[in-house]
Amino acid sequence: MIRGRYAPTPSGELHIGNARTALLAWLQVRSTGGTFIMRMEDIDKPRSKPELAREALSDLRWLGIDWDEGPDKGGSFGPYVQSERQPLYEAAIDRLTAKGLLYPCYCSRAELAAVASAPHGLSAEGPAYPGSCRHLNEGERQERAQRKTPALRFAVPDRPIVFHDRTAGPQSFQAGEGGDFVVRRADGIVSYQLAVVVDDAAMEISDVLRGCDLIDSTPRQLLIYEALDKRPPRFAHVPLLLGADGKRLAKRHGAHSIRAMRESGLRPELIVGALAAMSGLLDRIEPITPLELASDFSLTRISDQPTVVDEGWLQRLRIL
Ligand code: GLU
Repeated sequence: MIRGRYAPTPSGELHIGNARTALLAWLQVRSTGGTFIMRMEDIDKPRSKPELAREALSDLRWLGIDWDEGPDKGGSFGPYVQSERQPLYEAAIDRLTAKGLLYPCYCSRAELAAVASAPHGLSAEGPAYPGSCRHLNEGERQERAQRKTPALRFAVPDRPIVFHDRTAGPQSFQAGEGGDFVVRRADGIVSYQLAVVVDDAAMEISDVLRGCDLIDSTPRQLLIYEALDKRPPRFAHVPLLLGADGKRLAKRHGAHSIRAMRESGLRPELIVGALAAMSGLLDRIEPITPLELASDFSLTRISDQPTVVDEGWLQRLRIL
């Protein structure tokens, strides 16, 4: 029985890239009779908005995507909202600390707001952290601690991390290359990398399907699973949807928000058909429901090519 999830971040309107990931994750679960979990990833409190969380759930439902456990439904693994799960993250940090895997970091880069959000490509974080605070001696730590509350970083071992990705194939990373990463900022906000592992493990997620911009975060997450003695899920990282500028489709491509498409009168079945066609599940765009797609879904059918979603694409959808 597989348990899969979709984990939106309510810092912007749900766009078709998000909806596509949600649809594929939902199909993976529903095609095998598994359990689908909705989890709101709002640990980045300053950037998250409750009304965007409500709208995201409403947009997903409108598309025909449902869930068995989630913020509005409850379930045995709740709460399903990250901002309510802080004690679990702290318990994990205590375990990692007891194992000697974390160290205090006094550098200003560790304050970056970005650590609470999923890094869509680790390169967006800039050069790997050079480890400046890793080798401080006790005296140096005490001296810095008088002036500053530290962040906590995970001391990444310099060894290969290999895993099999169910859509992207065999993966091999040199773990040390990404540098030691932040698990908790000085202000107490835990990082995406830690929270996502604690939650996926606690919610007994067996299968994670998400965009391939998160594939280089996976080695970090595997290290956390290992350190917490938890069994990692199977991963499937699917090709991205790109904006006209060739970059990952994101908030700035506002016209592609599900809300805007919904308000412009587009039918959900047509959007689902378009998402399926761009994922290689249909030969051409035609109205269809998620349920209709579930009967012959298989991960192997997902196209391995990214899709460009520009204004022309949206126009074509409007005249169908
Ligand atoms: N909350 C993350 C995002 O919106 C998803 C993280 C994940 O699926 O691991 O990008």
